[in-house]
Amino acid sequence: FGRLRDGLQRSTQKLGDGLAHVFVRRPLDDSVLDELEELLIGADLGTAVASRVIERFRSTRWGAEVTHAEIRAALAEEVSRVLAPVAVPFSPDPAKRPHVVLVVGVNGSGKTTTIGKMALSFGNVGRKVMMVAGDTFRAAAVEQLQVWGERVGAPVISGPPNTDAAGLAYKGLEDAQKAGADLLLIDTAGRLHNKAALMEELAKIIRVLRKFDPSAPHSVLLVLDATTGQNAVEQVRVFKEMVDVTGLVVTKLDGSARGGVVVALAETYGLPVHAVGVGEKAEDLRAFDAGEFARGLVG
Ligand code: GDP
Repeated sequence: FGRLRDGLQRSTQKLGDGLAHVFVRRPLDDSVLDELEELLIGADLGTAVASRVIERFRSTRWGAEVTHAEIRAALAEEVSRVLAPVAVPFSPDPAKRPHVVLVVGVNGSGKTTTIGKMALSFGNVGRKVMMVAGDTFRAAAVEQLQVWGERVGAPVISGPPNTDAAGLAYKGLEDAQKAGADLLLIDTAGRLHNKAALMEELAKIIRVLRKFDPSAPHSVLLVLDATTGQNAVEQVRVFKEMVDVTGLVVTKLDGSARGGVVVALAETYGLPVHAVGVGEKAEDLRAFDAGEFARGLVG
């Protein structure tokens, strides 16, 4: 996991420019605070965080000429306070061989890419990683994971189109255990014809894995695309109804002016944010650092 801040330029720019616009030598009054609140909500930080920031300024700095530097520092501090508890690195349990990770999320959120990136980063620190191409409905998803497998030198368990994903996951776990793998990353379908079907698909994978290892899956990672803004918050709700999500990976923070959604996610669900995606390349997965992210976000 490399540096986070250089990947966050767009988010920074939007909120930073907005802040510069609001605070042009004006004493803090209702209209300034309203503008600030709108800006924070527009930047996807969510209403709860936005109103907390506003109330803090109202009670401590009313009537004062607040500088950009002050507002940025205060905002970064508040954001950092919200994010600190969720900035939890992903660390597979070394006692599990393998530690089984089910990776879920809607199509296009970045599941397959994130799995490839994780395989590389854990491979780089000497862990033996294997992957299951469990999105068996989309041939492209299977091929894409195979390409990642070749690129990062990790085996991919796959089957012909429409293979039963649960059976494939079982085979993956069997193979991974035989091979003494540390980490098994299981890709899944992002969309079946309806929510009930997807829920059943995921439940079946979990049921079958548990026949082999009652403690599996050890992690359920939900991958979210930051460019969908508040929609990402809704996706957490929907997926939490289907599976016991243990942590989040937020992708596409590079191409997005919506990094603020990470703050709304942290505030709403408090789920660990294990990593963030800041590009399509193998090395573009970053550990999530609350302070760095907060400073990057406010510019
Ligand atoms: P899946 O359908 O959930 O498996 O999503 P994919 O892994 O196929 O990703 C969908 C698209 O998003 C692909 O074109 C990826 O290259 C791209 N992508 C994934 N993560 C990131 C990221 O962090 N930044 C950018 N810019 N693109 C990403």
